[in-house]
Amino acid sequence: MAHCILRIALDTPLNAVFDYRWDCEKSEEPRVGQLALVPFGPREVVGLIVDVLEETDVPEEKLKAALAVRSQLAPLSRQWLALAGFAAEYYQRPLGEVALPGLPKNLRVASTVALDRAIKKLAKLEEPHDPAPANVPQLNAGQQEAVDAIVGAQGFAPFLLYGVTGSGKTEVYLQACAQVLAREPQGQVLVLVPEINLTPQLETNIRTRFPGVMLSTLHSRLSEGERMLHWLAAHEGKARIVLGTRLSILASMPNLKMIVIDEEHDPSYKQQEGLRYSARDLAVWRAHQLQIPVMLGSATPSLESWHHALKGRYRKLELRERAVQQAVLPSVKLIDTSRRRGQEGLSEQLVEAIKLRMERGEQSLLFLNRRGYSPVITCESCGWVSECKRCTASMVLHKSDYRLRCHHCSLEMRIPRHCPTCGNIDLQPLGRGTQRIEESLQELFPQARVLRIDADSTRRKGSAQEAFDSVHRQEVDILVGTQMVAKGHDFKNLTLVGIMNPDSSLFSQDYRASERLFAQLMQVAGRAGRQGGSESEVLVQTSYPQHPLFSALVAHDYDYFANSLLGEREVAGLPPYLYQAILRAEARELELALEFLRGARDLVRHEGITINEPIPMSMARVHNMERAQLLVESPSRPALQAFLKEWMLALREQKTRIKWSLEVDPVDI
Ligand code: ADP
Ligand code: ZN
Ligand code: ZN
Repeated sequence: MAHCILRIALDTPLNAVFDYRWDCEKSEEPRVGQLALVPFGPREVVGLIVDVLEETDVPEEKLKAALAVRSQLAPLSRQWLALAGFAAEYYQRPLGEVALPGLPKNLRVASTVALDRAIKKLAKLEEPHDPAPANVPQLNAGQQEAVDAIVGAQGFAPFLLYGVTGSGKTEVYLQACAQVLAREPQGQVLVLVPEINLTPQLETNIRTRFPGVMLSTLHSRLSEGERMLHWLAAHEGKARIVLGTRLSILASMPNLKMIVIDEEHDPSYKQQEGLRYSARDLAVWRAHQLQIPVMLGSATPSLESWHHALKGRYRKLELRERAVQQAVLPSVKLIDTSRRRGQEGLSEQLVEAIKLRMERGEQSLLFLNRRGYSPVITCESCGWVSECKRCTASMVLHKSDYRLRCHHCSLEMRIPRHCPTCGNIDLQPLGRGTQRIEESLQELFPQARVLRIDADSTRRKGSAQEAFDSVHRQEVDILVGTQMVAKGHDFKNLTLVGIMNPDSSLFSQDYRASERLFAQLMQVAGRAGRQGGSESEVLVQTSYPQHPLFSALVAHDYDYFANSLLGEREVAGLPPYLYQAILRAEARELELALEFLRGARDLVRHEGITINEPIPMSMARVHNMERAQLLVESPSRPALQAFLKEWMLALREQKTRIKWSLEVDPVDI
């Protein structure tokens, strides 16, 4: 055969696959799973070979030749292709759009200089020596049982490791990994974490525990060179542990033997743009495909996973107590702020509690999920508020750099000197963000070392790590932060957590808001008292101390809370008892977006599927685009999938200038 046909998936929304000619005498016959450089319109792009054929229906004169095959790189495995294929089908996207963006950028360029350099570098990289592991703590009974269950599992085995904060889930992951790696000389394990700012701590733990094992990290803060090298190490099977954020669920690991998902409930496992996949769900699918164990760990499991555990589909392993001797869960107290507001948002009790920690040389953490100085500024004489011109959102005051900023479209402006409508010069900040709390604390406790950690204070690469290190080194007395400080961190000397203003999500329209709030509060509360010794407490400032969510929090009773939420969802017919997808559209005018969605409603027949009325999104305008959505529901996942497939075909055939997208299993409604 003089030449063959390569069927190649490209990263384009239009069509998934294209055929190219390849001169087989030039080289070995290309293989499925290899990458190839091909001409596409005026450009040269890298695609993925999904089939090698003898002939094609594409007429000879239209058939272009592929330019190069990346034969220096082993093909992506059939199983990896099946994973990408499943994700493409399930989330209703072309294969190329799923398979290619997950690869390092340096693999997707015309030049192979970076790839060849990485291959050389990796070949030279010594397998790390020194197989003597650091001191391994003796597991307690619960941990031992969990490790034994996972290591003893055969075939596909999903576990929910349900352990209170500080119960030593990490230790379970580490020892399970150790046993799996010892048993499987070539085996690999994948450990997923929700955020990059959590990787350093776990990364250090893994490195000291597995000094003789190559570890790859994969997350968005790597340089392209690093990403290429780490990806390649996993792909070649050299890296036996891969630690990464959600995108690493698509890492190529030819010898994967176990998957761990830490903080499995965390919303950041859901990608919120482009391919809107759930890394947790894909992880379970991947484990099933490979017939290996997958461990989902959390103190506050997602209701989906909790439901699976109740139904016996996941095996629940429970850690009821904190691992460190004498460490007990902090006592949670509610401070009613409906009557006495305190100064600058800080109640008397909270101020006293901080004072006590200062005297004892212990650390305090104040949690407020709102960055900036104040969420809005206002004119008290005419009622003007700082709204974004482009979004249905307010401009947030960032006092230190004299600017107002929209957190949705990044519009910025100087703080106006006077009210734009009435000229009043006395504009007031309304409400509080982390910067304002930081300022008030500094005034109240001039001798205290106050540190703020949020997206603004940690923009520079490495700065989040430095900040957390200084907390661990006891160089900070009071830490103020957003959800960035709430998760995962094992602060040794922290005995007080103040929760500033949880009330805004209590009455949200989004039915998931209370699940998310509860998980977040349990997590942040769990930062206190991890080392034992002093008594530790969590003070929650709320105007609704009677709310059942807070009673469950005080009792540390996730079971009760989760079961009652599930009960409500079942009655109301909401996930996980129902499957959903959302079609979103945006246009300069709201009516155009709504009209598009109304048209979409009637495009295909839909038995057993409920299609709701199109409505404006709760934040209707972002960056001058009006946004609307259409919610589709069904009690049957296969029925919904079948409908979506047909629907997407019909929608793609429509010529429209409206920008639209589909989300399967949406989390924000
Ligand atoms: P989680 O992830 O469940 O919140 P961690 O894994 O961070 O908890 O563990 C909390 C603390 O308990 C850590 O300081 C860890 O070193 C310690 N720890 C874990 N297991 C044990 C054990 N078996 N004996 C003593 N200390 C332990
Ligand atoms: Zn005014
Ligand atoms: Zn805006």
